[in-house]
Amino acid sequence: HAKEIGESNFQFFSQEMNRASIERLQIESSLRLALLRKEFHLVYQPQVDLATGRITGMEALVRWRHPELGMVSPARFIPVAEDTGHIIEIGQWVLREACRQTRHWHDRGFIGLQVAVNVSARQFRQDDFAGQVRQVLEETGLAPECLELELTESMIMQRPERVVAVMDELRAVGVKFSIDDFGTGYSSLSQLKRFPIDKLKIDQSFTRDIGSDANGSAITCAIIALGRSLRLRVVAEGVETAEQQCFLIENGCHSMQGYLFSRPVEAGDFHSLLLLQTLPAAL
Ligand code: C2E
Ligand code: MG
Ligand code: MG
Ligand code: MG
Repeated sequence: HAKEIGESNFQFFSQEMNRASIERLQIESSLRLALLRKEFHLVYQPQVDLATGRITGMEALVRWRHPELGMVSPARFIPVAEDTGHIIEIGQWVLREACRQTRHWHDRGFIGLQVAVNVSARQFRQDDFAGQVRQVLEETGLAPECLELELTESMIMQRPERVVAVMDELRAVGVKFSIDDFGTGYSSLSQLKRFPIDKLKIDQSFTRDIGSDANGSAITCAIIALGRSLRLRVVAEGVETAEQQCFLIENGCHSMQGYLFSRPVEAGDFHSLLLLQTLPAAL
């Protein structure tokens, strides 16, 4: 009897593994054509200043509408695209589209709106990454001060001298840098000081624990204090409750991003959010 159970378990696991590897193969093989077929688009999630309640910018997030699989989450396909190298082309498309759209909003009167774009490790490591970014800025006419590139701790800790050189080259033009998912990596205070960073984004795993978990609150406070002492802007990711927002305000966090204010939305809906805050406050 035990043997039977063992066998059926084995069958179950191998079927699961099969399903996962088939899906991975499907993602791998269709990534190649996804750009040509225009299956990607961007959504935008506002970043809100906690002192004024106003949208100061947004993060651009890629979406993939696959003809058979439906919406495929970036958490699933970005790692695959990293492995296959497709991330290079996808990343370039994301950067250009985000800059083009932001320039468009500037032209519509929303001057100073800042866009944050995620950069993958492989994309950043290309020899000519800085040149590519400068070219996109020229082509789209976006003010470089309004582009923020999101890097991760693990990315910048690999060959830090080279990373600093690339960052310096882009900073000279005006581009900004933030550290995404901050607190989940292994960077120490002394290491962090070496990089020309403008902003820390507190990882949503810490934000989530505010109020419910003493450690989560403590880590969030520590990151805010660290960021402020280094004269960096601090943004909390994944803010879902009013309680979390209050905690962040009380503890000196500069801005927030999360479902509480808005989910990531299509460009048209983001434009509506921008228009809403130009209306005079209700009487
Ligand atoms: P990320 O850069 O840390 O982006 C934040 C993620 O948190 C987004 O997931 C966003 O939809 C989600 N989020 C925002 N607010 C909340 C909230 O209040 N609660 C919860 N539970 N989640 C929230 P998304 O869009 O699925 O992206 C996942 C990850 O995929 C991103 O994490 C980023 O690492 C990667 N990614 C997305 N777009 C791109 C891209 O264009 N290029 C690269 N290289 N990576 C990307
Ligand atoms: Mg990000
Ligand atoms: Mg993040
Ligand atoms: Mg992330």
